Amino acid sequence: MTQIDNNKAAPPPRPQHWMDIFVVGLLLFTLFSFFDYGDKGAEEIAYSEFKQMLRDNRIQNVLIRGDEISGSYRIQRDEFTEFTTTFPPMDDYDLFPLLEENDIEVRVSSTDQSIWTMLFINFLPWLLIIGIFMLTSRMIRSGGKGFADGGIFAFTKSKARLSKEGDIKVGYGDIAGLTHAKEDLGEVIDFLRNPEKYRAIGAKIPKGILLVGPPGTGKTLLARATAAEAGVPFFSITGSEFVEMFVGVGASRVRDMYKEARKVAPALIFIDEIDSVGRARSSINGVGNDEREQTLNQILAEMDGFSGDEAVVVIAATNRPDILDSALTRPGRFDRKVVLDLPQRQARLDILKVHSRNVAMDGNLDLDTIAASTAGFSGADLANLINEAALLAARDGKTLVDNSYLESARDKIVMGEKRESMLNEEERRRAAYHEAGHALTAYHMPHADLLRKVSIIPRGLALGFTEQTPAEDKLAFGQHYLEDRIAIMLGGRCAEQLVFNEVSSGAANDLQQATLLAKHMVTEWGMSKQLGPLSFHGSEESFPGQEFLVRKDYSEHTAELIDEEVSKLVTENEQRASTMLKEHHAELEILAAALLEKETLSDKDILELLSASNIPKKSETAIGLLN
Ligand code: ADP
Ligand code: MG
Ligand code: ZN
Repeated sequence: MTQIDNNKAAPPPRPQHWMDIFVVGLLLFTLFSFFDYGDKGAEEIAYSEFKQMLRDNRIQNVLIRGDEISGSYRIQRDEFTEFTTTFPPMDDYDLFPLLEENDIEVRVSSTDQSIWTMLFINFLPWLLIIGIFMLTSRMIRSGGKGFADGGIFAFTKSKARLSKEGDIKVGYGDIAGLTHAKEDLGEVIDFLRNPEKYRAIGAKIPKGILLVGPPGTGKTLLARATAAEAGVPFFSITGSEFVEMFVGVGASRVRDMYKEARKVAPALIFIDEIDSVGRARSSINGVGNDEREQTLNQILAEMDGFSGDEAVVVIAATNRPDILDSALTRPGRFDRKVVLDLPQRQARLDILKVHSRNVAMDGNLDLDTIAASTAGFSGADLANLINEAALLAARDGKTLVDNSYLESARDKIVMGEKRESMLNEEERRRAAYHEAGHALTAYHMPHADLLRKVSIIPRGLALGFTEQTPAEDKLAFGQHYLEDRIAIMLGGRCAEQLVFNEVSSGAANDLQQATLLAKHMVTEWGMSKQLGPLSFHGSEESFPGQEFLVRKDYSEHTAELIDEEVSKLVTENEQRASTMLKEHHAELEILAAALLEKETLSDKDILELLSASNIPKKSETAIGLLN
């Protein structure tokens, strides 16, 4: 793994401010003075004990203050210790004669406290309140800068972590794929390396760049590597750190970070997850989050305050560009957008290679197959896959990671951990026919993806799975392909119906997927003759807390038609699957039997079993996985 995290908190220490020391001192003083009553260290003894010691002539002297008697008594020959005791509420007429008899030094002090003590006690709560008030107001106003940096009160200080030149050990060499993004940022690197060149010619470099891409596509990685490539200090802060703080703290952190960056310019500021502060302000939730808004405003103000020749570039990252406030993306702010896509096959292969550099890998590793079977994986997923494989291999006491571990790691990530619980014989038989049904329809449907693997090993919630892989990632699907896909989804259930003469509840997920796909085809992709090339995609609105609310904006009549068309699409294709399975019933039996015996069949196994010489030509799309 090439992930190196050696951020150092390195803001230079600032001189302390006398005011703060005063306030903190006042606070501590008042606090401690609460506990400062009574004679410390004096032994509290019973009144009777005191009287007894008096008779034994062990008391040296006595101070009477109200009903409290203190003084010292002898332990040994010349050793004395302090004591206190309490005078009983009724009068003790023996005491004074006894004291006089023994010739003891007696002092009496008035019960009334001194005027100063009185004053102090009365004002104590006020002092405390004033102290706390001054402390908090100072913290908010000054952004904590008045307090000793790094001290416990410095919580409003910019939490931006600064990585100095050379600290970041990740460069563009550690980033696979993302060629366009790297090219786009190349200009920024050149500018940061050599701002004079750009200034001389009067060129304006974008101040703000927005990295947009799904989670795990390497946005954070790319920002860090950019700073490293340019060899400039890197300040990074995460948007979510701002939320749920006191009002004003986020804004002062932003101000602080920009100031620090200007001081050491050329520098790069990175605001990760900017969507958590940069959400569109007048959203439906109504109640504006003040803190977020102030932070956002501060970011905008700082960006506007940049003069053209400051060599500070700000990169922000988000995976929700759709919810960003439009003020953020106006010219002069984050006006340059760099999109990071999920990696395509070649990029996936490269990422796998990058991450397997530091892992002990078997010599004849087939990373290409893994790359082919991981469509939809992000860079982070792929890094995780390599690590997962290494963990599995280490668990087995192996010294090298080989293909089988990569394969298991992938299955684990896609389908969840293998389930230990055993299926009973009846369930296994059902699962075998169900998966064989999927597999066989996938095998025979003319437009389906290539079969890759069939298994009846339960994983996660599934009792088994059938997997198909495309040879390439595709972004658009043809209608025939989609229809075949519905047939394959229902193939499992059809096989159960054919063999057991009934269906089971195990196909719920298949039905859900098939229905959803049919709905998309009808309402969004214009694949129904009845409805024609119209989009009936309801408008989606998001509410905090709730997921999405889809609002229909078509008539009841259309809604009925949609339902009809969806239902027709699903049932027709179920019919196709059913007919096909009846036709190839013998093959279904062969596959199911083999599954019961071996539990998992690879693409080669299947071809062998069906002794197929003519593999139907298949179309290619994203991973197909059924269970
Ligand atoms: P994001 O910020 O987009 O969510 P990260 O930058 O945090 O993603 O990526 C997480 C991890 O995934 C990185 O630390 C790196 O190990 C791996 N990764 C992601 N994309 C790539 C890539 N293109 N090349 C190499 N590793 C990558
Ligand atoms: Mg990130
Ligand atoms: Zn199924």
